[in-house]
Amino acid sequence: MIIILFGPPGAGKGTQAQRIEKENGLVQLSTGDMLRAAVAAKTHYGQKAQEKMQAGQLVSDDIVIGIIADRIKEDDCKNGFILDGFPRTVAQAEALDEMLSEGGVALDAVIEIQVDDSALVDRISGRYTCANCLEGYHDTNLKPKVDGVCDACGGTEFKRRADDNAETVEKRLKEYYAQTAPVLPYYAKKGILQQVDGMKSIDDVAAQIAAILAA
Ligand code: ADP
Ligand code: ADP
Ligand code: ZN
Repeated sequence: MIIILFGPPGAGKGTQAQRIEKENGLVQLSTGDMLRAAVAAKTHYGQKAQEKMQAGQLVSDDIVIGIIADRIKEDDCKNGFILDGFPRTVAQAEALDEMLSEGGVALDAVIEIQVDDSALVDRISGRYTCANCLEGYHDTNLKPKVDGVCDACGGTEFKRRADDNAETVEKRLKEYYAQTAPVLPYYAKKGILQQVDGMKSIDDVAAQIAAILAA
């Protein structure tokens, strides 16, 4: 199964992708995580991407499309994957279609997580992850079961993203409406776009997504 989780920054794409990965055995492919790893490793692409990410702007299509094209050829993607944060432009969506048809596969669902803008700043400013395994948490909405210990790996170090501040969030939202929202009609026309109410609890959103995937 190949699924796209779509939505503005902070909507809950990563949170839901991590759950689907655990429950359905599909791999989570987060272009944001891949780019942050490239930045940390100071690769050629990482150095090009860093400035854009800090400024809350999109990284160039060429870089992101190249990263995804390589990644989906790997063995662990054979049973399917969840795209989290890709595609973010119509050009990326078109490139994805080409890659998938070359591989003889097709998208099963594009799921838009709908969240009011007013909720996104709180979600993003409370967001943090395990430094070891990247399991996602939130200061008030999703705490580890044991304070200071990652549920997934037992790690005790956590980190926050450099771009998760109020000023950058505003720019990322503008980018979302200018460049990413136009991808929605692209998938609507193909008849594979569905919506879930992302204002509900994490468990409720997970149940809405599970119902779509089971249909
Ligand atoms: P969020 O989940 O909060 O939207 P991500 O981790 O997906 O954030 O992305 C962080 C940053 O990485 C984006 O602001 C952008 O600079 C870059 N990025 C991630 N995915 C893409 C993409 N598909 N195209 C262009 N830039 C991307
Ligand atoms: P995205 O990947 O779309 O940028 P995340 O999955 O990282 O968003 O979620 C942003 C933050 O909001 C995280 O700290 C997460 O724990 C929290 N969160 C996710 N979904 C919900 C929800 N339905 N209700 C409340 N908080 C949520
Ligand atoms: Zn962990």
